Amino acid sequence: MPKQKSKKKSGYVPYAVGFKKPSEQAKIQAIGSRPMVPELDPQSFKEFNFFPSIPQATSIDDWLAQYDEEGQSYGDYLSQCPWLSTRKLKYMQQQFVKNGKTILEKYPNGKIYLLPLGDFTGENCVKFKTLIDFAQMYLGIPVAALPGIALQEENHKIFWTENPEDRQAYGERASARKRKFEINSRYHPGTKHMQLKVDETLLRLRSIIPADAICMVGLTMYDLYGDDTDLFVAGMASGNHRVAVFSFNRYDPALSFSVEKWYDITCDSSMSSSDRRKLILQRSCKLLVHEIGHLLGIDHCIYYDCCMNGSGHLSEDFRQPMHLCPVDLHKIQTLVGFDVVERYEHLARFYKEHEMNEEHKWVTKRIEFITNQ
Ligand SMILES: [Zn+2]
Ligand SMILES: [Zn+2]
Repeated sequence: MPKQKSKKKSGYVPYAVGFKKPSEQAKIQAIGSRPMVPELDPQSFKEFNFFPSIPQATSIDDWLAQYDEEGQSYGDYLSQCPWLSTRKLKYMQQQFVKNGKTILEKYPNGKIYLLPLGDFTGENCVKFKTLIDFAQMYLGIPVAALPGIALQEENHKIFWTENPEDRQAYGERASARKRKFEINSRYHPGTKHMQLKVDETLLRLRSIIPADAICMVGLTMYDLYGDDTDLFVAGMASGNHRVAVFSFNRYDPALSFSVEKWYDITCDSSMSSSDRRKLILQRSCKLLVHEIGHLLGIDHCIYYDCCMNGSGHLSEDFRQPMHLCPVDLHKIQTLVGFDVVERYEHLARFYKEHEMNEEHKWVTKRIEFITNQ
């Protein structure tokens, strides 16, 4: 997740000490073999360059210039992923079928929940329904929305406000009373910019996760921060507890953010609102599936240019692709058991409808290539 602390510099930059870019052979080994999915055969995509290697770092803030990522091969995932274990996950309260092969055979009632945190009705907000459709197609697991939590602003403070009528939807210890808590935040009087403290927000979300949740992601248009020295954080996940919170605040292409002051934001209003919305949606969709990927046990990808690559700052995040590389596609295909081509076809329709032209072109070519094999 992007966490911006220092100024960016351009040019050739070495990887973090200890990190070694995987060789071609290591990449192919990381994909793992599975004859049932011939389109994952590395020989079948090599020449068309659908999956270029992970790029060299160009900024000292790039993820791999900062972190010595180990990488997680398909084989590693099979042995590490708690969702594929024959033992029920510690925090799960729902029905469990030990011998099930896929995540939904093991947890037949399992769902991914998205929860709107604060207002999503503004002109440049992403439509929640669109996010749900996309995540469901991309991941192949049922995705549902939970009733939103209102964030009320009073005297430059933010209050988390649960509606008592919604308490049945949440999985908890909710009382019948309206619950209202102040959430730690910071406010700058000059720019009127406000940020929510991420760890406290995450704690609150953890208390309302429904029993049938595989995981729950709170989404907000509020800007987030972790500690006082941060400019911002994109969000935070608490893997063990299957809960995460993410902000789309910095995904608006009309906004520019200072690299020194958290509250310093300028808006370029010359951009058309449809272009603005398209880009916000594309960036939000990518963030969402990357983060749910982590909650499903997938680590950062070091093998190819991939949706699961780590990103150290916004421009690195923006240049990364929407698609999964063969290593990570293989992981999620095994976890969920979908048909790869069918999934691509659903995504092609989604990209077309939402004018995500680059993604549409890639996935259409990919389908063409696989089906002509
Ligand atoms: Zn990540
Ligand atoms: Zn990958």
